[in-house]
Amino acid sequence: MPNKVPPTASPLTDQFGRVVDYIRLSITDRCDFRCTYCMAEEMTFLPRDEVLSLEECARLVRIFVGLGVSKVRITGGEPLVRKNALWLFEEIGRLENLKELVLTSNGSQLYKQADNLKKAGVKRINISLDSLDPLRFKSITRSGELGQVLAGIQAAKQAGFKNIKLNSVLMRGVNDDEAVSLVKFAIDQALDISFIEEMPLGEVGHSRASTFCSNESTLKILQAAYPLLASTETTGGPARYWKVANSQTKIGFISPHSHNFCEHCNRVRISCKGELYLCLGTDDKIELMPLLRQHPHDDQAIIAAILAGMAIKPLGHDFDLNRSQPAVIRFMSHTGG
Ligand code: SAM
Ligand code: SF4
Repeated sequence: MPNKVPPTASPLTDQFGRVVDYIRLSITDRCDFRCTYCMAEEMTFLPRDEVLSLEECARLVRIFVGLGVSKVRITGGEPLVRKNALWLFEEIGRLENLKELVLTSNGSQLYKQADNLKKAGVKRINISLDSLDPLRFKSITRSGELGQVLAGIQAAKQAGFKNIKLNSVLMRGVNDDEAVSLVKFAIDQALDISFIEEMPLGEVGHSRASTFCSNESTLKILQAAYPLLASTETTGGPARYWKVANSQTKIGFISPHSHNFCEHCNRVRISCKGELYLCLGTDDKIELMPLLRQHPHDDQAIIAAILAGMAIKPLGHDFDLNRSQPAVIRFMSHTGG
């Protein structure tokens, strides 16, 4: 039988020969928003001792970077609502061999934290923005103040962040009429923007099929409004990019329902409970928290578990909008988007 794995220098190579050099770490399941596509209205959050401490987060990132990971995204929940999160950014920012420390945030705290995050070594920020109408924004986030997020975007620009990217989840009948105005805002502000298709993660109180808005239809609407040039850029993830002619803005379409990207997947996720998820769309995981706590001074058992994880990284995910139950029971805020 032919060996499926071609020779590679990286210890983080899965059974299909894909090299994992990118981790996404959720540092909290908590959030100051309750976006309708992400969370239920009433959420029970994890008790503090079931969440990785910031020291455990820093240790895990150091171990992964030692195994060849060069890009780390901190996410959540809302990472910036975690107390002392800045300490973690500073610790990770100091790691040699780490090329990129990046952040995904809802933007609500950036008006006061953008400067310090830049100083800590954060290279880029993705900021979620699903509507430019304050009332609609409040209704989608169930509590968010649009003005505070817009102030956060300005603070990030002033702090010197380049290539800031907006993330927008369009939902049919909710905000799918805002694709053009969100892109106009991105162009006016010299930002990039990605449209993310809603994924069936967690039971949030509505049928995902009823609000699903395909990126294919969004692209058609945007092509009618702007001259778009297809780009060959890829980040190893489910995004395809288009450049808006005569602007600095790139538009990404993150289409998790398409399987096209799985063969190039370069990432794994770590939940705020220290679960190593090999794929966002399946439940295969390795529990790292018990190992971190049983072996506070010796990384070998943790390294062995991470390497074992490479053997169970699946070839692709299994999202199906028409299931009555979500394929994956956990919420996006738990695993980290
Ligand atoms: N709180 C931060 C934020 O909103 O950017 C970071 C965590 S959030 C889980 C990360 C990204 O996941 C956000 O851009 C959000 O829009 C997206 N997201 C959350 N639930 C989703 C779902 N069910 N389908 C698609 N995207 C989702
Ligand atoms: Fe919070 Fe982000 Fe989920 Fe919205 S998408 S509820 S901001 S974690």
